[in-house]
Amino acid sequence: MVLTSELQPAEDTSLELLSLVIPCYNEEQVITETLSRITHFCSELTGLTAEIIFIDDGSKDQTQAILRDHAARDPRIKIICFARNFGHQIAVTAGMDAARGDAVVLIDADLQDPPEVIHQMIEQWRAGYDVVYGTRTKRPGESIFKRNSARGFYRLLNKLSDVPIPLDTGDFRLMSRPIVDSLKAMPERDRFVRGMVSWVGFKQISIPYKRAERFAGKSKYPLRKMLRFATDGILSFSTKPLQMSIALGMLAAFIAMGGIIYAIGMRIFTDIWVEGWTALMIAVLFLGGVQLICVGILGEYIGRIYNEVKQRPLYVVEEYLGFADEQPAHSRSPVVKHK
Ligand code: UDP
Ligand code: MG
Repeated sequence: MVLTSELQPAEDTSLELLSLVIPCYNEEQVITETLSRITHFCSELTGLTAEIIFIDDGSKDQTQAILRDHAARDPRIKIICFARNFGHQIAVTAGMDAARGDAVVLIDADLQDPPEVIHQMIEQWRAGYDVVYGTRTKRPGESIFKRNSARGFYRLLNKLSDVPIPLDTGDFRLMSRPIVDSLKAMPERDRFVRGMVSWVGFKQISIPYKRAERFAGKSKYPLRKMLRFATDGILSFSTKPLQMSIALGMLAAFIAMGGIIYAIGMRIFTDIWVEGWTALMIAVLFLGGVQLICVGILGEYIGRIYNEVKQRPLYVVEEYLGFADEQPAHSRSPVVKHK
């Protein structure tokens, strides 16, 4: 606890407001450093005031306690405490729903995205751009597998998707109010925020930056979550896998047709047709495989439709801390537990 720090002055309402949205999940090892880097960054802002919105995405460690401690002394710090872990993309959505800024910046809590880059983002925003996203030129400290799978994924996604989604770009970005309001109007449950921002349009520009290593702690994206995230990206932004399953089925049918002609030929013109068993097995297994793939793809889409139809709220908030209202007007959460 930093006893020397004085109570920060409340926002100057005559200035434009910048909202920083920072999702955190079990980040006790980095959060103190993040708080100091972010508050330092905010003190350097000229002509802007800042609100800093942390989303505690159901952390099981001391993350929330540390955040509360700082929020008690700094009125710029606000906390959205989720009732459980809802995932990074939903955390970011809750932050944008509650943000009041003229511009909103999404930034990770692990300091992989340097806060200083936001100054350049603000410059571009002042120059008239609505979205300024950071494109990673280097990703030190991440495994070769992670770097290459991410590279491959962004390229595949772009081939499949109906909207162009910038390559090697994460969620580190600045968005103007119209973009944030457009995102707030998008109700879907499977959220792939960076794709949704591309879909909205307006004037968007990239700025290259060097991604730093995680300050401390481990990545909260194990392979399982990464695959889920990649599937969400592809299935939410493209129906091409459905068309591909038709093409795959046609290819299989075409190959099977050759096999059928061969089998009939053997049956009519030779005596050795019993030996066709191998070919038969291959055809059956191949067709079985193709059918399962197609059913699987269909299943993924149907699962998503089911999820949408249930119409559940996107997230449940246990407490909004430091906000002017007990529950911000655009919150998608049901009743917040009043303390
Ligand atoms: N995060 C979150 N909920 C989750 C997983 C991650 O809020 O379920 C946060 C995490 O605390 C971090 C950001 O999302 O601020 C990015 O996660 P991480 O750094 O682990 O991902 P990576 O950079 O390895 O892709
Ligand atoms: Mg990270």
